[in-house]
Amino acid sequence: MRWVPGHKGIEGNELADQEAKKAARGDSSPVEDLPGWLRAKLPISLSRLRQTLNATITTRAHEEWKDSPRAVKMDRIDEDMPSKKYCKIAYSLPRRHASLLIQLRTEHVPLRRHLHRMQLVDSPNCQHCDRGVREMVFHYLLECPGYRNARARLEREIGPAAKSIRHLLNSTETVRALFRFVHDTGRFTATYGDLALAEPEERGKKGKKKTPGRGRHVEGRQETGDG
Ligand SMILES: [Zn+2]
Repeated sequence: MRWVPGHKGIEGNELADQEAKKAARGDSSPVEDLPGWLRAKLPISLSRLRQTLNATITTRAHEEWKDSPRAVKMDRIDEDMPSKKYCKIAYSLPRRHASLLIQLRTEHVPLRRHLHRMQLVDSPNCQHCDRGVREMVFHYLLECPGYRNARARLEREIGPAAKSIRHLLNSTETVRALFRFVHDTGRFTATYGDLALAEPEERGKKGKKKTPGRGRHVEGRQETGDG
């Protein structure tokens, strides 16, 4: 079979491509079934092998993610998790902010509903208002009157996006404002300490710097520990 470039989508060509991919995975006919002139080993294309491996790993990661219980919750926020978008946001943040962000996105966050499930507090209800509602991420970010002032500031900064949990937890443009809100509420100070992110101006106009060996953008992070 022969693969002809520029003929993507044509049945015979696709078949040739599939067979070539199989061969790259080592999945070819038994040597004894082949005519003599085809029995010599073919050279393996390293780049094709790498491509095939990467594609297999990505597919498997997506399949495993779709089957996981967290996927159901995450669908509200990010339909394509684990997504490049989340990685982009997370890599722009110090580690403990990235960690808190994933906790907020999965509801595995030190708010009382989760803490109650972990049997660490006696009630799942919010202690910052008297509404008798479970303290969950939605309540914390969008509802609780205990954080009215912080929320008003958030709304002034980012407008209608402040009323969308999906936007708040899934946007590079508003993530800074989100953490200012989180910092203003003081709700996670006991667990995470001071969560104010430095302003972009303060972090140096030169922009992104990389710490050797870490592979993370740090941009003048203020904390000294790993968090
Ligand atoms: Zn409340």
